[in-house]
Amino acid sequence: MQKGNIGVTTENIFPVIKKFLYSDHEIFLRELVSNAVDATQKLKTLASIGEYKGELGDLTVRVSLGKDTITVSDRGIGLTAEEIDKYINQIAFSGANDFLEKYKNDANAIIGHFGLGFYSAFMVAKKVEIITKSCKEGAQAVKWTCDGSPEFTIEDCDKADRGTDIVLYIDDDCKEFLEEARISTLLKKYCSFLPVPVAFGKKKEWKDGKQVETAEDNVINETTPLWTRKPSELKDEDYKAFYRDLYPMSDEPLFWIHLNVDYPFHLTGVLYFPKVKSNIELNKNKIQLYCNQVYVTDSVEGIVPDFLTLLHGVLDSPDIPLNVSRSYLQSDSNVKKISTYITKKVSDRLQSIFKNDRKQFEEKWNDLKIFINYGMLTQEDFYDRAKDFALFTDTDGKQYTFDEYKTLIKDNQTDKDNTLIYLYANNKDEQYSYIEAAKNKGYNVLLMDGQLDIAVVSMLEQKFDKVRFTRVDSDIIDNLIVKEDKKNEVLEAAKQEALSAMFKSQLPKMDKTEFYVVAQAMGEGAAPVMITQSEYMRRMKEMANIQAGMSFYGDMPDMFNLVLNADHPLVKEVLAGEEQACAADIVPIQLSMDDTNNRRNALKKSHEGKKDEEIPTAEKDELSELDKKWNELKTKKEAVLAGYAAQNPVVRQLIDLALLQNGMLKGEALNNFVKRSIELIK
Ligand code: ADP
Repeated sequence: MQKGNIGVTTENIFPVIKKFLYSDHEIFLRELVSNAVDATQKLKTLASIGEYKGELGDLTVRVSLGKDTITVSDRGIGLTAEEIDKYINQIAFSGANDFLEKYKNDANAIIGHFGLGFYSAFMVAKKVEIITKSCKEGAQAVKWTCDGSPEFTIEDCDKADRGTDIVLYIDDDCKEFLEEARISTLLKKYCSFLPVPVAFGKKKEWKDGKQVETAEDNVINETTPLWTRKPSELKDEDYKAFYRDLYPMSDEPLFWIHLNVDYPFHLTGVLYFPKVKSNIELNKNKIQLYCNQVYVTDSVEGIVPDFLTLLHGVLDSPDIPLNVSRSYLQSDSNVKKISTYITKKVSDRLQSIFKNDRKQFEEKWNDLKIFINYGMLTQEDFYDRAKDFALFTDTDGKQYTFDEYKTLIKDNQTDKDNTLIYLYANNKDEQYSYIEAAKNKGYNVLLMDGQLDIAVVSMLEQKFDKVRFTRVDSDIIDNLIVKEDKKNEVLEAAKQEALSAMFKSQLPKMDKTEFYVVAQAMGEGAAPVMITQSEYMRRMKEMANIQAGMSFYGDMPDMFNLVLNADHPLVKEVLAGEEQACAADIVPIQLSMDDTNNRRNALKKSHEGKKDEEIPTAEKDELSELDKKWNELKTKKEAVLAGYAAQNPVVRQLIDLALLQNGMLKGEALNNFVKRSIELIK
């Protein structure tokens, strides 16, 4: 028997491994089973080139549980005593502590860096044995034992069969790994697609009311998973079945992309476009990453472009360096190439479906657009490709490419400044009357009701030349697309003011909502009153909701315009009624106001060009008296107008109808409206 020390620089590496890799203890199983698989693959290679001449026999890798042991056995190439010394004993590395400290949260990095694959056994075991017999002719079987201190022993032993048994004596605080169910779950997670059969015990069956073992191996893996096979040999049903295996709870995928590159890097895999249920949070990190069929992680951030993390499926590449930190990954040239390649593949696939089967593409657009929009928003090179197949949907459900749509609206929706105006709605029902008004003008209205559409609108305004997006309810129809310069004021100032004061006084008070009342000439046929909201203000608020650092806009009240149609008979009637009923009260107030104003103007004129100290105090006092008086008169006048408006059912009715049409009439105000309506029709 021989004794020695494992060649690590740290006095005792194992407690360190244990401590730092605490959360990832379970990967020991992946490491040991994939070592066993590697040893088996190597043997097959040797046999294929004629260097191993014996029988291969059954090559199944076996995982078995004892009372306090886990054993992983293979019939691979095995190890000689010299090889154990070379590959197991001399794991020499320097600066171990520094490195461990740096990557303590990233077990994969540590394991990959040091080739600690085998040593990860010590995360769960207090003692490990390697019982192995090399495939070399006449090899002597050996047994290596180590109890987690740097000391090991190695001795000759008896082993009938070629290959290696790794026996772990499980630590007391890791007893969970002796449970069959736990190991079963881990094997499923990490080993489902290993290229050599892996058996965990025997298949069981129900017999006489209990489960009994059969003679058949319980093979837990599929050795030639779908992505390793040739696309030409696969049918749609195969892809769908594989998807169901991976995601049993998901709906059928929209479509898939089979990836297969050998140069300049190796990558295989299948990516699926999932059907996203819109009310469910988008699920990132559904893509599983494999390295030669060994499961590594389902966190692919940094490896595939952000928007593609929304896809499902499997990527397999030995060229993705997993032994580095995530932030380093992004700068790795292979990873960059892989990311670019995947983006290109995905856009090519979308492009080809669009070209060859536009009908299918349009049908699936609703489910697809979240990916495509997200991609266009976050990835410049994807936008450049997607702009040719991304679709707009109008409020009638018709779909257009960006170019087609531009051609459609170019003639009728260009304003006087040569800006092309894209009209949109985000709710067909709530904005029904505005959409109708636009359609009556021969305009087309897009439906932008997706989760990302606010952002898409802003992006497209940047990308397209001389284009503006305007929501249909952001202004009265004539102002949405201004084709010629505005005519003069619709009403004289006094009338504007009177209307504004009357309607403002009767608007119900709403939390965080403010109205600005204006009169516009909209034509006799148009509605007497409507509510609009400035595109700019609304968008600022919407952006504030999805973007940090803009809370200033988010906290501002919603500002709406209550637009009165000065051409409408009802509005005219209100104005005429007010003039008649209030003249007696208002005329003297107005005269007083005019006097006050005249005096004020005269004083101000006499002060022009004078310095403050040259103005007599008496005149300064008089000025502020005049201001005060004028304000009092104004308030008085508004009170008269409010008094009139309050008893004029048409004013309130018109306001309520406009609110109602925008879904803003609620609670008591709605109740009052209903009552008043009944009064009116009695
Ligand atoms: P890695 O697998 O990354 O090289 P490991 O620490 O897991 O690092 O293993 C070190 C070496 O030990 C392997 O490269 C291989 O040569 C040898 N080895 C480990 N497990 C086995 C096995 N089951 N059969 C034969 N050789 C093995």
